[in-house]
Amino acid sequence: MADFTLDQIADLPRDLLIGGQAVPASDGGRFDVVDPATGKVITSVANGTVDDAIAAVDAADAAAPGWAATAPRQRAEVLRRAFEEMTARADELAHLISLENGKALPDARGEVAYAAEFFRWYAEEAVRASGELTTAPSGANRIMVVRQPVGIAVLVTPWNFPAAMATRKIGPALAAGCTVVLKPASDTPLTALLMAKILDDAGVPAGVVNVLPARRSGAVVSAMLHDARVRKLSFTGSTEVGRILLKEAADQVVNCSMELGGNAPFVVFEDADLDAAIDGAMVAKMRNGGEACTAANRFFVQADVADEFSRRLAERMSAMQVGPGIADDTEVGPLVNEEAAVKVDELVRGAVDAGGRVVVGGSRPDRPGFYYTPTVLTDVPSGAAILREEIFGPVAPIVTFTDEAEAVRLANDTEFGLVSYLYTSDLARGLRVSEALESGMVGLNRGLVSDPAAPFGGTKQSGIGREGGHEGMLDYLESKYIAVTW
Ligand code: NAD
Repeated sequence: MADFTLDQIADLPRDLLIGGQAVPASDGGRFDVVDPATGKVITSVANGTVDDAIAAVDAADAAAPGWAATAPRQRAEVLRRAFEEMTARADELAHLISLENGKALPDARGEVAYAAEFFRWYAEEAVRASGELTTAPSGANRIMVVRQPVGIAVLVTPWNFPAAMATRKIGPALAAGCTVVLKPASDTPLTALLMAKILDDAGVPAGVVNVLPARRSGAVVSAMLHDARVRKLSFTGSTEVGRILLKEAADQVVNCSMELGGNAPFVVFEDADLDAAIDGAMVAKMRNGGEACTAANRFFVQADVADEFSRRLAERMSAMQVGPGIADDTEVGPLVNEEAAVKVDELVRGAVDAGGRVVVGGSRPDRPGFYYTPTVLTDVPSGAAILREEIFGPVAPIVTFTDEAEAVRLANDTEFGLVSYLYTSDLARGLRVSEALESGMVGLNRGLVSDPAAPFGGTKQSGIGREGGHEGMLDYLESKYIAVTW
């Protein structure tokens, strides 16, 4: 389907979804959606206002008691149908993601499969929200703990995984009995709107899931966080915006889950299986064209194997086929927008000016769209911005180290703590270093950690809370303690 156009999705919504109705923005405003492969406008969607945001909270509020009272089995079956419906429409969804986000189709197909799994996993978890019953240490009473839905949840998602970041929140929220307002990223609102249609087809009642594309994200989200009916914010995006929203949420003491930025180290010890380390590096760096919070951002390679690792990584990176995401043979699509491509270019130039060496790539190709050539840099000095900031593009800076203590120190030298990767054949070293790395997740001889059944999340300034796994649903439940004498 290299000639895919939006017209091939007959039921693609382009308005706000409030209380089960597709409605225009209250002021009639719309904003454009752009194809990153060409820079051309592909369509427009309604641009939600503050009034629309409050209307969406009204709808979520009206639906809340009914949804919370729905039998867990019924909620599970709705989510299971959503999984099946998403899987049946996987091809359409993958093309839509490629078109508005730019990512290569294999990455988009991978995202759809990953995203749908959150509906299946939380269909299975919906019936397992257990409580606790114990006897107080004094023996005077029982301590009963019941788990109840936290309340209306505002979900704010980024553009890099427009389907998966939405299902990773909607799945557990619905399983827990919460109603939601989803504010998708403005670069990728279409995927969120099609997913809402899929949820409607799966039998989610009107008002349980409301979707509010909005360019004025600050004003719209702030209005919802200052509405006393909203009790939960789940945000995935940059640490910078996360900090703003934590402050906003403080006014009404809204319960927050934060999935923020990363700066993942990828550590290769001299005893590593280098074939496996190169394969893992390609996944950790190039999944989603480097636009992932989990992307390997800093490669630390032990001195004895650094030349061989750099040479082989450069060979693999330079062989990648760059092109429009929806073209059949593309492995690396464009970045999401012009700003992203400019930022990657600035980081590479800064590293080179500071003494870094370009092994391969190092520039934007001469073509329309927001492309960046897969790049490997060596000799990157420790102070370079590229080692401190999220690159969010297909660039691998390599730094060498001499011993384990230095590797751990370099890896932990960041305010972020989302994920770390390490390769070694020494199991004791692997476990010792895994424990010493300051991150919420570790890939030990693996370049991919994301799994709907596992708790995903960060430490330090990479976030608060976990999504996925059993823990993901707890983020949408309050524990209520009832002291009982009987
Ligand atoms: P972003 O922070 O710019 O935007 C995220 C969302 O917040 C978007 O919907 C945006 O419209 C909205 N937003 C922006 N400013 C806002 C404001 N002032 N008030 C309310 N909402 C606002 O991030 P992005 O560029 O869309 O995504 C990339 C970032 O997301 C990277 O930092 C990446 O690491 C992070 N990310 C983290 C995870 C994770 O699980 N930890 C997953 C994916 C992406």
